[in-house]
Amino acid sequence: MQGVEQLRTAMRGTALTPADNGYNAGRAIFNGMIDRRPAVIAQCDGVADVMRSLDFAVTRSLPVSVRCGGHSLPGYGVCEGGVMIDLERMHQVYVDPSTKTARAQGGTNWGQFDHETQAFGLATTGGLVRSTGIGGLTLAGGHGFLMRKYGLACDNLISADVLTASGTLIKASATENPDLFWALRGGGGNFGIVTSFEYRLHDVGAVLGGVLLAPFSEAMAQLRFYDSFSVHAPEELGVLAALATLPDGTKAVVHLACYCGDTVKGEEVLRPLRTRCTPIADQIQAMPYAAVQSIVENFNPRGMRNYWKMVYVNELNDDAIATLTDHYSKVPAPLTHIVVYSFGGRVAAVPDADTAVSFRQSRHAVIAIGMWEDPADDARVTDWVRQFATKMQPYASAGFYPNYEANAEGGAIAAAFGEEKYQRLVAIKRQYDPGNVFRLNQNIVP
Ligand SMILES: Cc1cc2nc3c(=O)[nH]c(=O)nc-3n(C[C@H](O)[C@H](O)[C@H](O)COP(=O)(O)OP(=O)(O)OC[C@H]3O[C@@H](n4cnc5c(N)ncnc54)[C@H](O)[C@@H]3O)c2cc1C
Repeated sequence: MQGVEQLRTAMRGTALTPADNGYNAGRAIFNGMIDRRPAVIAQCDGVADVMRSLDFAVTRSLPVSVRCGGHSLPGYGVCEGGVMIDLERMHQVYVDPSTKTARAQGGTNWGQFDHETQAFGLATTGGLVRSTGIGGLTLAGGHGFLMRKYGLACDNLISADVLTASGTLIKASATENPDLFWALRGGGGNFGIVTSFEYRLHDVGAVLGGVLLAPFSEAMAQLRFYDSFSVHAPEELGVLAALATLPDGTKAVVHLACYCGDTVKGEEVLRPLRTRCTPIADQIQAMPYAAVQSIVENFNPRGMRNYWKMVYVNELNDDAIATLTDHYSKVPAPLTHIVVYSFGGRVAAVPDADTAVSFRQSRHAVIAIGMWEDPADDARVTDWVRQFATKMQPYASAGFYPNYEANAEGGAIAAAFGEEKYQRLVAIKRQYDPGNVFRLNQNIVP
């Protein structure tokens, strides 16, 4: 492509074309189903590289995609025939222990973030899998074990440096461009490229956490208990329940817990959950927060084919649980699982108008994680995931979390925000990106 040589010379990082070594590795992302071929992969090494790559794309009217951790399920980080602005090399994290804040570059993932903050016994709400990017996760809200105590990832955002579609780098915070700051906390990658995020941190050292495995035959009783336990427990507790298949092919109920307060109190809080089942294994123990954060990736290997759908559910009543367990009993692929995690606490306490995130009062997120290896199983697993969504509709409350949706494009995305917030997002999109340069995302059409 014309001009690539000039782009290469202008960058500290690398610009790869299909003829270059590393091109195929560079376009591969978490979801192995995504096979797109950008004209250029701009592996940026700093803000100047991001500015030059964006300018290169915009002046040629090429599609633009922005990649941080590469975990977007529809694969928004990689485009066909355009410029993939890859921020992965931009992963420096600067912690200020005196103010309990951290500034992280726009391509950082949660493993890198926690590594730096945990050195000071600090953390903020982040995703459950270390390789997930802070970018895509924070910009759509950001769920994690610490959210009931400290709010969503985006509730901990203090400021962001944003490169807008016009090529201008601006700051967004409560006092600078506050409308943009509001939109960045929930509205996804629609408004520009965030080159750095500044977060509030909290004292989080050793936690009481780990896995509790129970027989699948106890799923009904376990989920019935989980329904109220998870939301009425102290805010220090983040806990999930999953229906999953163990390596030997046995189906099981998997709980994963993280109690971020005093561990002795945590033992008391978690006792009812642990004594209620006939455990196959109980590995809940005191451990560093970073250790809990390294568990879920074992259930989510990179490069598998992925198709996910989620619903918010306000009550896991017997009918809803029977529907879930019956559907899981017919799961078509062993890595495929259903996860339930719960909100309340600080997630619900943040006033709804403060951020673009909607449906904060939802009680549970129920997610069908379709994950398999063989392309021959594509139709079987995606059908099973779609059927999950249909069967759960009678129990679903309003809205959805855009980050888990396989197809949340076009008008469908408005339902994730509600009409009033969606219209406000459209107005802000018109101001910062009227030409929809940033459209490879859960797109808000200007
Ligand atoms: C295995 C797995 C585990 C997950 N666990 C959780 C979880 O615990 N909690 C949770 O809330 N979600 C979770 N998710 C969903 C996750 O939040 C989304 O997939 C999110 O998009 C991933 O962010 P990323 O930066 O890795 O994605 P990428 O694919 O790199 O980016 C996705 C999109 O986000 C936008 N974006 C990313 N970085 C920037 C930036 N710096 N500036 C501007 N736009 C940007 C762009 O639009 C980009 O196309 C998980 C997903 C997977 C696959």
